[in-house]
Amino acid sequence: MPEILLLDDDPLQLKLLSRTLHGLGYTDPIACDSAEAALQALSAPHQAIGLILLDLNMPGVDGVAFLKLLSERRFDAAVVLVSGEDERLIESAARFGASQNIRMLGAISKPVLPAELKTVLEHWQKPTAAPAPPKQYPADQIARAILENELVPHFQPIVNLVTGALAGAETLVRWQHPSDGLVMPGQFIAVAEERGLIRDITRLMIRAAVTQGRVWRDQGLHVFVAVNVSMGDLTRADFADFVLDALERSGLPPDDLVLEASEQRVAQDPDTALAAISRLRMRRITMAIDNFGIGSSSLAQLRDIPFNAVKVDGSFVHGAGGSAVLGAIVNSSIDLARQLGMRTVAEGVEDSTDWVWLRSSGCEMAQGWFIGAPMAASELAAWLTAWEKRRRRLFDA
Ligand code: C2E
Ligand code: CA
Repeated sequence: MPEILLLDDDPLQLKLLSRTLHGLGYTDPIACDSAEAALQALSAPHQAIGLILLDLNMPGVDGVAFLKLLSERRFDAAVVLVSGEDERLIESAARFGASQNIRMLGAISKPVLPAELKTVLEHWQKPTAAPAPPKQYPADQIARAILENELVPHFQPIVNLVTGALAGAETLVRWQHPSDGLVMPGQFIAVAEERGLIRDITRLMIRAAVTQGRVWRDQGLHVFVAVNVSMGDLTRADFADFVLDALERSGLPPDDLVLEASEQRVAQDPDTALAAISRLRMRRITMAIDNFGIGSSSLAQLRDIPFNAVKVDGSFVHGAGGSAVLGAIVNSSIDLARQLGMRTVAEGVEDSTDWVWLRSSGCEMAQGWFIGAPMAASELAAWLTAWEKRRRRLFDA
């Protein structure tokens, strides 16, 4: 088994951690009270150090400086931060380590609890194969897919957090590729945006969404449909007319359509986007600011653009129950949106902890794998039957 190295300037901490590791069945670690001693141990011939438990706050070479040294000298041990510092400081140190290509396994706060240490160590021993970056498709293949009708909508349910009722569905494009199977938007949307193909994709999805919304309505299912739009769409003079025409043809009322614009994309040309958004709003279409909190100018967007719904980004929502920082960000985003009279949707509700926390946050609606993954329209009825059963359990609890 690879060895464990402890680096902490406090001899008492070294002793305590060694004892805890021993109690968990690990062989005695190499204990170092300075970065110099640790580097010496790491440089020793035939060393087999696979994990470093690193104190952040040390005199001389501190934990962050030590991470830099580790990466410069290409030691490949994984690192767990052990610290009494505040959560944000630890998180930023962990991010720094990851940016230096160090395998950061997590952070534990002092005093170290054996159970916490055990979880981290189990994580260490699991082999982690870095997932290969998903293949990106070239523009000519995307253009062909559009012509061949290979782009299909999937729908992800959005539920009301107070009642649990299905409130709406977000349309997410998928590429039913003839040989590669189902291709995700992350593999072609960026190229489509750069190469002028997004307009066609957005139009396909808007048509598909309003048509589907109408079908659901005719079946007695009153839900809104949301569609993602790109900056390139909002800055085209004929966009608002296209949307209104599609709505009219489908017979879906404008209140049942939500357009989600990501603030990163809006920020590039706010003035033109402003005109389109204002027109659509005047026609009672809901305009949502997507991935709220990501990017640098979220508050400026709220000030300048008449959005009337906010989708709080999943990267803040997932884990908000266990992190004071994320919790504060989500709560204040929701508060802000509510004060402005906007609808609130939290994305990225991945597990029951997210769900339970969010229910007490005052957010209006939720979306995420815990509730339901994106699915073909034909699968929604079966999902709804299963959800109604779960809903009773979740809301009794
Ligand atoms: P987005 O608008 O932020 O969409 C949410 C993404 O989060 C979707 O990924 C969804 O499948 C995923 N997701 C759902 N639940 C969870 C969860 O619990 N946890 C996590 N981590 N993720 C969850 P997807 O479908 O791969 O879409 C990625 C992005 O591609 C979208 O992000 C959106 O920006 C873009 N996109 C998708 N469809 C369209 C489209 O028709 N037009 C445009 N312009 N962009 C689109
Ligand atoms: Ca979205």
